[in-house]
Amino acid sequence: MTERYDVVVVGGGHNGLVAAAYLARAGRSVLVLERLERVGGAAVSASPFSGTGARLSRYSYLVSLLPRAIVDDLGLRISLRSRRVSSYTPTVRSGVPTGLLVEREPGPATAESFRALTGSDAEFERWSAWYDSLAAMARAVAPTMLGPLPTRAELRSLVVGAAGERVWRQVFERPLGEAVEETFADDLVRGVVATDALIGTHTSLRAPDLLANRCFLYHLIGDGTGEWRVPVGGMGAVTAELERVARAAGATIRTGATATAVAADGVEAQVRYVAGEQEHTVAAGTVLSGVAPAVLDRLRGRAPAAPRGAQLKINILLDRLPRLRSGVDPELAFAGTFHLDESYQELEDAYRASAGGTVPDPLPGETYCHTLTDTSIVDAGTHTLTLFGLHLPADLFEEDNAGLRETLVDRYLAGLNRHLRDPIEECLATDADGRPCVEARTPLDLERELAMPGGHIFHGDLAWPHVEDDGPGWGVETDVPNLLLCGSGARRGGGVSGIGGHNAAMAVLGR
Ligand SMILES: Cc1cc2nc3c(=O)[nH]c(=O)nc-3n(C[C@H](O)[C@H](O)[C@H](O)COP(=O)(O)OP(=O)(O)OC[C@H]3O[C@@H](n4cnc5c(N)ncnc54)[C@H](O)[C@@H]3O)c2cc1C
Repeated sequence: MTERYDVVVVGGGHNGLVAAAYLARAGRSVLVLERLERVGGAAVSASPFSGTGARLSRYSYLVSLLPRAIVDDLGLRISLRSRRVSSYTPTVRSGVPTGLLVEREPGPATAESFRALTGSDAEFERWSAWYDSLAAMARAVAPTMLGPLPTRAELRSLVVGAAGERVWRQVFERPLGEAVEETFADDLVRGVVATDALIGTHTSLRAPDLLANRCFLYHLIGDGTGEWRVPVGGMGAVTAELERVARAAGATIRTGATATAVAADGVEAQVRYVAGEQEHTVAAGTVLSGVAPAVLDRLRGRAPAAPRGAQLKINILLDRLPRLRSGVDPELAFAGTFHLDESYQELEDAYRASAGGTVPDPLPGETYCHTLTDTSIVDAGTHTLTLFGLHLPADLFEEDNAGLRETLVDRYLAGLNRHLRDPIEECLATDADGRPCVEARTPLDLERELAMPGGHIFHGDLAWPHVEDDGPGWGVETDVPNLLLCGSGARRGGGVSGIGGHNAAMAVLGR
């Protein structure tokens, strides 16, 4: 006899687990099918370096978009810790190594850093006013993320009421680059602002389709503050909690189970999957897809969309932090986002080069040292350094993935070294076999490991958090009523947020 559940969730990423937990708690029978031997998708920790105690957030690493309401509803025992510093951007001005420091709550040290870099207080004043109005926008938009989609007019009225007409125009109507260029004068300051529009997103800040604006919006509104915090214990700690509450609520989670076909007719649904050597069929009232929309297309026998990711992730373990040429304390410089070759012009040039099929030079990217905020993931005295490289589309890697991966790691380390007094190579920890502790993942690596099509970290381009042309609803609907999206590919689902999972569960429960 065919097994049957009220709901089958295809894909046990963090979003699939959120959906499973909500539905099981509401009394639905739930089965989660996950192709890997572990759940969590891109929200996991791993120990890639033998002989060290490091458990790194292998893919995603910072949390902003996960609403407090989901943490409270599900009783997640997780701790998200603030970083001391928002960012540090090293540079050279008039031949002198220097940099821009932005504290998490910009105070006198930030003001002084702006003054030293730009020669006046004007840029810092513009910075403060810009982020104050964006904070007001975030407080207005964030509460809408866990309800049915507002219309564009409803969202506009919320944003204009909270932050003013100008912010609505800048973020929702005109290419973000226009606002950045008219607001800030310094190319480096402009770049620091702009990177939030480009994480996981391959586009120009001037692109008329406003893709950069959508990315910027999601990077600014997380839980009403937009703050990016470090999950204590790493991303694996977040997923472990989601797995715990889903199982405790009665959900069945089957790992090593790869879905091979999904069919739904509006009343009943079926999923075929392979576990071990065996093929199985499971019936369901509703299927939730936690896999990328392109994967779902394939499972339904349709021609899939072809999203393309454009980043390189490098995980590094250090025996000590390197000193900087600018003389700034490394514990300050590396505590937040450390921007590398990400001035506004460099970002635009890198986009143009990579869109034309060339590897950018210089390579824009940013590093983070999580162990300055949470030491629980490493042996005492060691530090992690994560590097996220931008504007490296999947197509660049098609010819020689391994070769380009290796070249780019060397080039990124060289880029870092330009700002360091101690070469990074001298600070690298080594594994049990004496190899330097460095690993990297290209978009093609992500596609192979995580089944993220094209290595796109959001499963596809981010969409506006309001109704477009697909009618009212939760942003999780497909063309069949009992087949819903619950992953990153749901409208508002990108990043480690659980929002896709929550909203799909609410759609099923009719809330
Ligand atoms: C390198 C990197 C860095 C990132 N950094 C951040 C960050 O710092 N902060 C942040 O908020 N976001 C970050 N992101 C984005 C974020 O991790 C993802 O958007 C999010 O994890 C997606 O979660 P999900 O549950 O929707 O999907 P996924 O995590 O992609 O999970 C989908 C699951 O479905 C499984 N699956 C696929 N096909 C099948 C099948 N046929 N049958 C069964 N199971 C299947 C996969 O194995 C996977 O476990 C990053 C992503 C990457 C890759």
